[in-house]
Amino acid sequence: MDRREIAALLAYIGRLDPRTIRTDQGEARDQLAQWHELLGDVPMATPHGWDARVAARQHIRISPYPILPADVARPWESYRRDRLARHTDPTPSVDPDDQAAWTAELAGTRRAVATGTTQPAQARAITSGRDGIDPKLEARLREIGSCIPPAARAALAPYRPARAAREAAVAQGMPDALSVRCEWCLAQPGEPCRRRRIGPDDGARGTAPRATPHPGRLDLAAAQQAQQPAMA
Ligand SMILES: [Zn+2]
Repeated sequence: MDRREIAALLAYIGRLDPRTIRTDQGEARDQLAQWHELLGDVPMATPHGWDARVAARQHIRISPYPILPADVARPWESYRRDRLARHTDPTPSVDPDDQAAWTAELAGTRRAVATGTTQPAQARAITSGRDGIDPKLEARLREIGSCIPPAARAALAPYRPARAAREAAVAQGMPDALSVRCEWCLAQPGEPCRRRRIGPDDGARGTAPRATPHPGRLDLAAAQQAQQPAMA
């Protein structure tokens, strides 16, 4: 708040609590200087829910003590902290190889969130879809998509059958078997099921990945999917 805003805030406070009004001109000037010194970096209002007048009014409403600059600064600090705690750094829209620009955009976004000019960005997983994505980044993603271009991905499919089967299953809305551990062959989540290779002497000779998961693993994934609420 600049001096003019501080003066407006003090006038508003004076209307709600006449004890804070300084009639002596020197005292009024000192009061203005003191509040400005302490609250110069606190905005009067932001587009996202902060208003110094609301904080002042709340104090006067519930406290028997005359308001001090701290009674505005403290709510502002907790407003900032709360917003930063809810913020998850979104992926910057600049070239990831440009380290300086990347860091600058992350820091700039955090600053904007803290000072209340931007809403906190939340993890995409808990918000609905891609609404929150920066339009510049959206364009970049359209351009690049996956790190494997679609054509190359399709060409690779025969060589990575387990992965291709998983992608096909997920695309069709079927349970993702690889999201759980296989109780049969003990393959870890993300790893394809393995079958044992039997040597001529009937002894096990290592394992080879299977293109399709063991049926029990599919059932387990289906059961787990049924337990979880559907994601948007
Ligand atoms: Zn298995």
